[in-house]
Amino acid sequence: MRTRKIPQRKCVACQQMMAKKELIRIVRSPAGETTIDLTGKKPGRGAYLCGKVSCFKLAKKSKAFDRALKAPVDVAIYDRLEAEFIQAQDEFEANKEHADDDGDE
Ligand SMILES: [Zn+2]
Repeated sequence: MRTRKIPQRKCVACQQMMAKKELIRIVRSPAGETTIDLTGKKPGRGAYLCGKVSCFKLAKKSKAFDRALKAPVDVAIYDRLEAEFIQAQDEFEANKEHADDDGDE
């Protein structure tokens, strides 16, 4: 079994570095659509956020995604992402428990 470095990413809201799987990825697709990416594999520019609604609210307040995605993100999109984020949280927590090892990577 090989050991490998755990990829670390920074939460755009609280600026904490943590393991990638502890973070939820928000991605802006080449078509300009901003969505939550639970697979972490969607193409486009990504921003990472702790799996916490409090951090989402912080990001919304400070417009952190605008900076991280290098594009203006509409308030309506923040609202939609927030709703999706709350839903995604359950799935995210469940996935985390299954992601014990590297899995298919
Ligand atoms: Zn955070």
